[in-house]
Amino acid sequence: MLQSTTEDGLDPRTEDLRIVVGAATDVGGRDRNEDAVHIGPVPPVADAAAQSAPESYLLAVADGMGGHERGDEASRLAIEILQSAFAADPGADAALLMKQAFRRANQAIFESRNASGADQMMGTTLVAALLRGKYATIASIGDSRAYLVRAGLVTQVTKDHSLVAQQVDQGEISAEDARESPHRNVLIHALGHRERLDAKMPNVFELSLLPEDRLFLCSDGFSDVVKDQEIVAVALEGDPELSSRRLVDLALEHGASDNVSAIVAEAVPTRVSLVPELVGAPAGRDGASSYLVPAIVSLAVVLFIVLVVLALMVL
Ligand code: CA
Repeated sequence: MLQSTTEDGLDPRTEDLRIVVGAATDVGGRDRNEDAVHIGPVPPVADAAAQSAPESYLLAVADGMGGHERGDEASRLAIEILQSAFAADPGADAALLMKQAFRRANQAIFESRNASGADQMMGTTLVAALLRGKYATIASIGDSRAYLVRAGLVTQVTKDHSLVAQQVDQGEISAEDARESPHRNVLIHALGHRERLDAKMPNVFELSLLPEDRLFLCSDGFSDVVKDQEIVAVALEGDPELSSRRLVDLALEHGASDNVSAIVAEAVPTRVSLVPELVGAPAGRDGASSYLVPAIVSLAVVLFIVLVVLALMVL
């Protein structure tokens, strides 16, 4: 995309962005909600009202799995570890911190599973985004997704680590078959499944946000029932809090059989132009109006003289 830039290479229209976020989650067609959702400033502030515009936001959706409440525990643990990693070191390199936090969360969930003595599967997906001004760092494992909604188009930023996504990549099935597959929830990578995370995990993506971009994070309870094209209109509807609620409602209307979670973040421009605008300046572009007052005065003087001369002639 062609962008005008200033001498230091910055797009003048994107210099100051304020992030506004909203989130919603619903139990959907399940008995319990194993999704966990986090939105919050980094570093966290005790009184959110006291800090009107925090510099950074951390967003995360985790979709836990495992019987006997283990799914809830896994998703909650993943988000707690991620949040504390950024709280402890808010200025650190975001991509590096994401990788470390994902590894720590994997280990904690794996150990928690073993400590319980039960030989039960316990794990979670995790998609997380750190937004610092216009820079977004997104990390993901599993099949919870991040989308970018820009200029009326939606793009999936993350890659699903699922069996069906792999089959689509290898040309074995179509994307439409993947949506209908009974194996669509089988994951290749997740947190807590193995003692050590695969070296390629998590996937990390870095983006520069433009004014009015929206980032959308969701669990597979949403993406299983709502098509990408359907996201745009609702993701842009109202403020992020309203649109996240509407997105969850959309999935429920489509008969979501799973838990549904949605986070929407909007990059709101606080300054759209660096060109100064004159306030209360003369209206004429070439300054013509600045001659108007002297011209009227001159005309009045001439008229006065003519009247005086006429009066003298009559007398
Ligand atoms: Ca799910």
